[in-house]
Amino acid sequence: MNVALPQYEAARTSLAAQARQWLHQTNGALSDELTLQPARFSLGLTPAHLQPDAVTTAVCGFCSTGCGLHIHLHQGEAINISPATIYPVNLGAACPKGWEALSVLTASDRAVTPLARNHRGRLVPVDWDAALRTFCERFQKIQQQHGPESVAFLSTGQIATEEMALLGSLAKFGMGMLHGDGNTRQCMATSVVAYKQSFGFDAPPYTYADLEESDVIVLVGSNLCIAHPILWQRIVRNRHRPEILVVDPRRTETAMAATQHLALRPKSDMVLFYGIAYWLVEQGHINSEYIQEHTSGFEEFRAHLAEYPLSRVVKETGLDEAAIQHAAQTIASGKRVSFWWTMGVNQSYQGVRTAQCLINLALMTGNLGRPGTGANSITGQCNAMGSRLFSNTTNLLGGHDFTNAAHRKKIAKILDINEARIPDQNSWAYPEIIEGILRGKIKGLWVIATNPAHSWINQQGVRDILSRLDFLVVQDMYHSTETAQIADLVLPAAGWGEKEGTFINSERRIGLLKKVSKAPGQALSDFSIFRLVAQYWGCGEMFSRWTSPEAVFHLLKKCSRGQPCDITGIRDYRMLDESGGIQWPFPEGVTEDRPERRLFEDGRFLHPDGRAKFLFEAPRDMPEPPNARYPLLLITGRGTAAQWHTQTRTDKSEVLRTMYPRQVYVEINPQDAKQAGVKPNQPVVVESARGRIKATAFVTATAPPGQVFMPMHYEETNKLTHAHFDPYSRQPSYKDSAVNIRPLADGDVDL
Ligand code: SF4
Repeated sequence: MNVALPQYEAARTSLAAQARQWLHQTNGALSDELTLQPARFSLGLTPAHLQPDAVTTAVCGFCSTGCGLHIHLHQGEAINISPATIYPVNLGAACPKGWEALSVLTASDRAVTPLARNHRGRLVPVDWDAALRTFCERFQKIQQQHGPESVAFLSTGQIATEEMALLGSLAKFGMGMLHGDGNTRQCMATSVVAYKQSFGFDAPPYTYADLEESDVIVLVGSNLCIAHPILWQRIVRNRHRPEILVVDPRRTETAMAATQHLALRPKSDMVLFYGIAYWLVEQGHINSEYIQEHTSGFEEFRAHLAEYPLSRVVKETGLDEAAIQHAAQTIASGKRVSFWWTMGVNQSYQGVRTAQCLINLALMTGNLGRPGTGANSITGQCNAMGSRLFSNTTNLLGGHDFTNAAHRKKIAKILDINEARIPDQNSWAYPEIIEGILRGKIKGLWVIATNPAHSWINQQGVRDILSRLDFLVVQDMYHSTETAQIADLVLPAAGWGEKEGTFINSERRIGLLKKVSKAPGQALSDFSIFRLVAQYWGCGEMFSRWTSPEAVFHLLKKCSRGQPCDITGIRDYRMLDESGGIQWPFPEGVTEDRPERRLFEDGRFLHPDGRAKFLFEAPRDMPEPPNARYPLLLITGRGTAAQWHTQTRTDKSEVLRTMYPRQVYVEINPQDAKQAGVKPNQPVVVESARGRIKATAFVTATAPPGQVFMPMHYEETNKLTHAHFDPYSRQPSYKDSAVNIRPLADGDVDL
């Protein structure tokens, strides 16, 4: 591949000078973002003296549900929020995070000016010109010394699709990087790989209406009630009185509301699903016609299942035979069975094959392509799906393949760039980039809207590794994140509500976000920052058509043409706005106007032979099982509906902060608490082979004996987790680290 920057070298100096001039003179789209005023008033609840004079609708910027929110405006600025009543996703409901989306914008730790680390090691304010010159000089010097691939980026599922596309294209085509990945590796990579292998494309097949159409709903590793509360509301609206099977080691809020809870041993889910598949085959409850017409590999799968008789399943899952048979019978008798999973499956060292267990069950029973059916991964972040298709990280724009010459040619032609600028190899995945830093291969890192020093598995390990970088840039709304605090340069970014673009939600619905508030200080939209970087770097000309988010949307439409995610039929942003979002695919010429559309209705999948594949393998051993020193298994996950990821935003809302404990806590079964001498609400030390933390004991029977649970939102949690990954998706396995617990002692002064 050609990763040098020759055609831009000569012009760089003069282009950078022009860019500086442009930065100072710019008007139009950038002008109001460049005002040097702080935020003008605190948002949150409508100030009494302000009455809304208009309402607009935009999609929420937290989770992948993608609710529509009415934003109440006063003289063009947002003053309050309410859930959109006719938006096809949320139908008038919103969770606490959505209601509080404005209040997190006015926090005192918003990044309002670029910050650069000075010779005393302190981050001090600098202007944009100095920041951008430092950015380019430092990264270019690293590339000159160590090669273009020695600088990488880590992006996010939290910024707009158009911003992701510009970032990925700028970094790879303009700046010569090869390696860049997103924090979606932590939540969705497993589903992406599972779908690609099974269906031939990363194609979640469902629409949310399926939650209301099913007569059997199987939820695996998914605490929907708090992680996706609006989707739980959709189940509550289901008029078919569905059977709800929850497969989860913990007695979660969702498990308590289910009709059947299979509280299996952690990581025994593959054995359970193979056992259920075996029972379905043995009892003749398979859809032979569907298997014959639309799938491949079933006979091999059937042979594999012979190793999973009920006796083995009972022994390895800890479930009783009657419960397993009842679950299998429920699936067999359902007319419209849907299988749903989230992080309990994805964040696993055998996540891809576990997800494919559910895909296999849907295929063998013919539960795909009809209302109320599907093998359905629910995503995490508001724009995880946008990242999967258009971030130019693991896929070339529009779900294309970097290693495919025809795909590179197509994209180069659409973007009017030299084909040689497009890498012909895939990027390293997130953990490989981290490892690359450790091995001295990556020397410079650009982190955008994510917080690896908090969220990455085995946190201390990653902090040590990040400290080895020659140059670390963090671009974020807040200067206070754990990663921003160790950066050499911080670029202040606008947040949701302060910029435009699109998000793609879990059910493939493309929705609009809107600029309804001014970013504080000198903060700029990520889109504007990327454009400025392009100018200063000297490759601005390459992006001369990428003038606005909507201009980029039109480029991405062209990139999608002929792909399973074809969106060429979406006319413009206005069409998205008027229609309440549009699900992909929506190719040119589509005349139907259904608000809910599902994939594979004709039984044709996206492999060249049009068939879905049965994929399977033997379960692996847990890499770090409980042992004499660390006898308990730590599971991490979502704490409450009021918390989001590393709490970078939700921690800023006074309302949300009242809805969860301020300090980290650990859920422990009464039996284990007694054995460890731990009393309710007592301060305890939780220790793993990676480190020790202080937490408050929450003694509760919802934690099964032998397991403890800690919410992922607290900084301390990932000091304990063990860094191991799914071999296919490279997604971290956050839910199986061995720990011990004891009461806090006087000697624990360092905690
Ligand atoms: Fe926003 Fe998700 Fe809550 Fe809906 S469920 S309001 S998208 S955070």
